[in-house]
Amino acid sequence: MTVWDLLVGQSSVVERLQLAAADAGKIPAGPGMTHAWLVTGPPGSGRSSAAGAFAAALMCSAGGCGECDECVAVSKGSHPDVEVVRPEGVTYKTADARALVSRAAIAPSRGRWHVIVIEDADRLTETANNVLLKAIEEPPPRAVWLLCTPSVEDVLPTIRSRCRHIMLRTPSPAEVTDYLVTKMGISEQTARFAANAAQGHVGRAKALARDESARQRRRDVLSIPSELVDLGSCMAAAQKIVSAAKEDAVSITGPIDERERADLLLAWGEGAQGKGLRGGVRGVKGALKELEDRQKSRRTRTERDQLDRALIDLLGFYRDVLAVQLGAVESDDAGLINEEMAVEVRGQAAAGSAVETLQRVNAIERARLALEASVAPALAMESLTIDLRRPSLRGARL
Ligand SMILES: [Zn+2]
Repeated sequence: MTVWDLLVGQSSVVERLQLAAADAGKIPAGPGMTHAWLVTGPPGSGRSSAAGAFAAALMCSAGGCGECDECVAVSKGSHPDVEVVRPEGVTYKTADARALVSRAAIAPSRGRWHVIVIEDADRLTETANNVLLKAIEEPPPRAVWLLCTPSVEDVLPTIRSRCRHIMLRTPSPAEVTDYLVTKMGISEQTARFAANAAQGHVGRAKALARDESARQRRRDVLSIPSELVDLGSCMAAAQKIVSAAKEDAVSITGPIDERERADLLLAWGEGAQGKGLRGGVRGVKGALKELEDRQKSRRTRTERDQLDRALIDLLGFYRDVLAVQLGAVESDDAGLINEEMAVEVRGQAAAGSAVETLQRVNAIERARLALEASVAPALAMESLTIDLRRPSLRGARL
């Protein structure tokens, strides 16, 4: 598998990046290559995969074979010339941006380019943006900046205008199904279910295709609309959504945490002896603490992401309910996002009106905004389940 195989339904992007990587290998570099790139696309479309594939292709003598030492090191996150940064807290601070800019000036140690991937570049504060702008305007000769954001509006226009834009699109269910079957060996039926349920989010589709417990948690969330009969059940349902997101987050970050911990212990050389031991133990303790803090903040962020996924699943459910209420679904349930939940969907459709369904959709959107504004998840979910039980026009945008 080459590094490009991870990108689903993005053939034109792959073509451009392959050309850029080929031009980057010429002396002087050809016109397909440049120092600053803005990679945009909806969540799950593969922004990080695209940036990672391009970074590997710039290191690999075969343009991203996926198998050589360079490609493997980039995919493991251990290549010395490829740095991937994510915000530690909610935003990138000015000091983070300054440190990044000074590291970018360091010449690459193995290859020709020093690649810096900034994930969630929409979380750069304005000052951090400005610090970065200077570095992008006058890039060190070997530096390549890859900024990943959901959309072009997420970075300052001054930065945007200096970057070449790579726009990923939401892959179709058919493309995701094909990927799951041919690249991951998933059965056709499971692949189709996962692709439909994930609505274009490739990572989510993979998790649903591979992991029965992820499928179960999804079913649990989608059965919530039928369970909201009184206040007690609303509270229980809210708790269920929050716990499902927590479990999803642990199953995503757990294996990464373990690998990082093992790598760190290895790097510090377990089994140091004699004089070096005490300093070594102190050093390793500090490094472990730092790693654990970083992992904790990643877990919290992943929990929020998973909570949002659950809400998107619920939106898909009510989209199905609405489609049934408006008579847009055939009697064989073809065209439903949640075909396997057809009984529940039809039950909800019969129990209420289309206007109520739209009000419930609005309630979910309000909950997503609340989470984005860092409202405590349990509170936001309780308010949501109460609104789902008795929809009202509160804050509706009908
Ligand atoms: Zn390679």
